[in-house]
Amino acid sequence: MTNEELIRKYDDLISAAKSARENAVAPFSNFRVGAALLGKSGKVYLGANMEPAVMNLGLCAERTALFSALAQGEKEFEAIAVYAGTEQPGYPCGGCRQVFSDLAPNVLWLLVGDKEVKIETLESMLPNRFVLEDLRR
Ligand SMILES: [Zn+2]
Repeated sequence: MTNEELIRKYDDLISAAKSARENAVAPFSNFRVGAALLGKSGKVYLGANMEPAVMNLGLCAERTALFSALAQGEKEFEAIAVYAGTEQPGYPCGGCRQVFSDLAPNVLWLLVGDKEVKIETLESMLPNRFVLEDLRR
């Protein structure tokens, strides 16, 4: 499937990420991010970044969505759309990449900007990553 076909296929997921951004709690940075994670069951789990006064206790939109999905029993994932309200798409932080490597490694990433959508995988964004099998070597 071409990137254009993937963007069309996941148009509803992209819209859900944009809606989820409205629920971001980012009073200090004002950098609001929404995420929508599609489980293999077909259910969509929303996430938004959370920024409490003690900022290092906050959490990114991507992990908010993933942890919520796992807590609700979803085990496998198809795609995630992430939107930060920027013209060009932003990439997930290293922390999110590592957590998704452990818990949702095969998800397709749609990084959404107002002027462009980038399609990525963990293989492209986090090569040579630490994985569970590394603990057993
Ligand atoms: Zn992150």
